[in-house]
Order: sequence, then C-alpha cells, then structure tokens
Amino acid sequence: MIKLTGISKSFGKQQVLKGIDLQVNKGEVVVILGPSGSGKTTLLRCINYLERPNEGHIAIGDFNVDCKHAHKRDIYELRQRSAMVFQHYNLFRHKTALENVMEGLVIVQKLPKEEARRRSIEVLEKVGLGGKLDAYPSQLSGGQQQRVGIARALALNPEVILFDEPTSALDPELVGEVLAVIRKIAAEGITMIVVTHEMGFARDVASHVVFMDEGVIVEEGTPKEIFRMPKEERTKQFLKRIM
Ligand code: ATP
Repeated sequence: MIKLTGISKSFGKQQVLKGIDLQVNKGEVVVILGPSGSGKTTLLRCINYLERPNEGHIAIGDFNVDCKHAHKRDIYELRQRSAMVFQHYNLFRHKTALENVMEGLVIVQKLPKEEARRRSIEVLEKVGLGGKLDAYPSQLSGGQQQRVGIARALALNPEVILFDEPTSALDPELVGEVLAVIRKIAAEGITMIVVTHEMGFARDVASHVVFMDEGVIVEEGTPKEIFRMPKEERTKQFLKRIM
C-alpha cells in the first residue's frame, strides 16, 4: 500500500501541492487527471523524491518517511520501492535497450551481471522487444523507446510504478502499443499511479480516478463515479472540456 499524508510542495512563493492525502492499495491502478499546472507531475516526482516535499509523510509498504526529516538512506529506500516512467523516456542514448534495463539492476540493486541480464531480457520480452535487445534508442521508434522505459521500471520489481504522462510525447499512431503494454502489466496486479490525458485508458484500466486542480485533490472515486457522476463543479467543467 502507498499512503501519502499532507504532502505539500512549493517552488519559491508558489505552492504547487497543498496537503495531498492519497491512499493506493496493493494492485490498484490509480489515474490522476487534472488541468495543466495542477501539480500532477510534481506529486509523482515527490513520491520518488525527484522533488523534495516541504511537508508530509510518504509510506510505501512498511516503509514510512517524514519528509521534513528525510535522510539520504530514506530517499534511497523510497527509490528502491518505486520506479518512474518518464514522459520523454529518459534512456541512456549510448546504451542499448538491454543495457538500459540492466543499468539499475547492476548499479543500484547490485545484482550479478548474468542475473541482471536474464531478468532484463525477460522484461524486454514481456513488453514485446525481445528482438531489439541490442538496438540503441536512436534505432527505436518513440513507442519502442517508451516500452524500454517501462521494461526498465518493471525490472526493478518495485512496489509501485509511477507513470508520468507516458504517451504524451508519442505520435498518435504509437500511443496504442504503449497503452497496451501498460494494460498488460496492470492486469498482472502491479500497483500503479498514472498521470495521463488518455481518458479511454483511465475509464478502462483505472481502479480509482483522482481529479486534481490547483494543488489539491478535488474529487476521487471509481471511473464510473468520476466520469458518469462527478459531484464537483470543477470536475464537471474539466471533463466537459476534454471529452
Ligand atoms: P501538465 O499537465 O501541464 O504536465 P501538471 O499538473 O503535471 O501539469 P506540474 O508539472 O506538477 O503540473 O506543475 C505544477 C506547477 O508547478 C506549474 O505552475 C509549474 O510551472 C510549477 N513547477 C513545476 N516544477 C517546477 C520547478 N522545478 N520549478 C519551479 N516551478 C515548477
């Protein structure tokens, strides 16, 4: 289970997150929706400590951090338990698909090379890239590069995978293949938090939908509750604009 309590984050004078409370149960797929600038990406980055929250608690499984007093080893532990998939893939350009996936296993998790290699091949096959192990990012389409990004996260066997708009940098014809891979791993029961503008995906795959605006959670519920019967005016207006 992931539990966020009172997460606040400011950049200078701008308070971007205003005391976020969120609980994600094991195996759930939580989709975060909201207008541009509402703080969705910042929230994901706080969970992984790519941004340091000013206040709040983050619990992943049995590990709990008070963000005000987090030490290096706490941040290391949070990053062991969560893995991020980025909008722009963030692959090493000079490494092959296989080497990109192996990197975290060898350097961070200190797995023996042969074991890391075996595990990396297994996850690359799972995302449909078993035939591209030795390809460099420049030799792959955007959709394939993002699938390497997903394989890299999956290989780490984290307690939660955080997806930050995983398809928004892709050409429209490549979105489907990446969403299909995310659906497939969601069906295996991996806990996920996904920031996306793909409403079809949110409706079909999410177990829980969270609507954020101006640094707060305005409303949350099942996809049915949020898409068919939103209660809050701000949610209704947002959905009307994008659907
Ligand atoms: P989008 O859907 O456009 O990606 P978002 O909901 O993910 O938006 P964030 O990217 O979290 O929103 O940004 C929230 C606010 O925080 C924005 O006003 C943004 O300009 C600001 N912000 C984000 N990161 C930083 C930073 N590193 N330094 C200063 N301001 C930042």
